[in-house]
Amino acid sequence: MTLHPTSITASRKQRTLTILWDDGRLSAYPFGLLRLGCPCAECRGGHDKMGSEPDPQVFTMRLDDEQKTGLKDIVAVGSYAVTFIWLDGHDAGIYQWQYLRALCPCLLCRK
Ligand SMILES: [Zn+2]
Ligand SMILES: [Zn+2]
Repeated sequence: MTLHPTSITASRKQRTLTILWDDGRLSAYPFGLLRLGCPCAECRGGHDKMGSEPDPQVFTMRLDDEQKTGLKDIVAVGSYAVTFIWLDGHDAGIYQWQYLRALCPCLLCRK
């Protein structure tokens, strides 16, 4: 069974995206992590590397580029994913719910 968000909110002030899931868990993603974890072919270095799990490296990296990590908009893709539009114009990443959940940086998920 796939988990679904019951709410998605972005705070530009805190540069954090918050998702409440239908199992009650709350995920808070720094914008930089979302951008580092962009699942598109370009960011992941080729279609063969587009897995359903984020690259573990993204949890230890930092990205401070204001344009790259500036969240401009969130667009729903059907009922299964969202696309983030970044200030530098990048919008190729389709973040499926399963992927987003796997990208959650909280201690419970990272265990
Ligand atoms: Zn990308
Ligand atoms: Zn979590």
